[in-house]
Amino acid sequence: MSICAKSKIFVLVGSPGSGKGSFSEFCIKNFGWSQLSTGNLCRKHVSNNTEIGKHIDFVLKSGKLVSDNIIFDMVREWLIEQINLGKSILLDGFPRNLVQAEALNSLLNEEAFRNICLFVVKFVVSDDIVIDRLCGRLVCKNKNCQAIYSSAKGSLSRPKNDMICDKCLKELEVRADDNIETIKERLKVYHEHEASLLDFYTKKEKNIIELDASMPIKNIFCSFEEAINLMGLDS
Ligand code: AMP
Repeated sequence: MSICAKSKIFVLVGSPGSGKGSFSEFCIKNFGWSQLSTGNLCRKHVSNNTEIGKHIDFVLKSGKLVSDNIIFDMVREWLIEQINLGKSILLDGFPRNLVQAEALNSLLNEEAFRNICLFVVKFVVSDDIVIDRLCGRLVCKNKNCQAIYSSAKGSLSRPKNDMICDKCLKELEVRADDNIETIKERLKVYHEHEASLLDFYTKKEKNIIELDASMPIKNIFCSFEEAINLMGLDS
């Protein structure tokens, strides 16, 4: 018997490169869940040269945060579309600060979301490991795919064919913000907001799952499965 028969939203909290995106890919493949990656949405806007894209291109390249209003409008629109599908949802990269967490909280208090259970999944990993990972990260150029790979020798996440996406066969690239200078800025921005975000959820939510994100993605996923089984949750 599940402790939560309602739809579930998993808020993924962790630094850039902590494995939230790869973890989401695993959950989509194994459980059929939906993922909202605000970073992927932002990059899609930039690539499609939309009005929002033109406005945020520079922000993404700098490693700083896009304004809360722009992000929250994207999230709200996506969540309202998704919520009736009844699938569990992974929020990857949102909320990223206290203002966004409070905005999400207000949204989930609206009538349309009354059947939602919220869980927080915390990815714990050192900055040194993250810097190594991000320096070897490759992503699919196809903005409807954006699958994640590693160029590191011996990594299980290497693409089968050099610089080609296993999933959609488009070319892989290094993300514009995966250079050491911007990585350091993104980590600095993450750490500026991490404590207040976690404090908000620690006070509010009992459902917090902590994962050792220094492990390979398969191990992280196994620990997550163990945690949700222990909590009596259906996947
Ligand atoms: P990510 O793919 O999650 O590493 O995000 C890449 C970039 O997109 C970030 O460095 C920000 O510039 C922007 N971004 C993604 N999510 C958010 C968010 N929730 N709030 C503000 N900016 C965001």
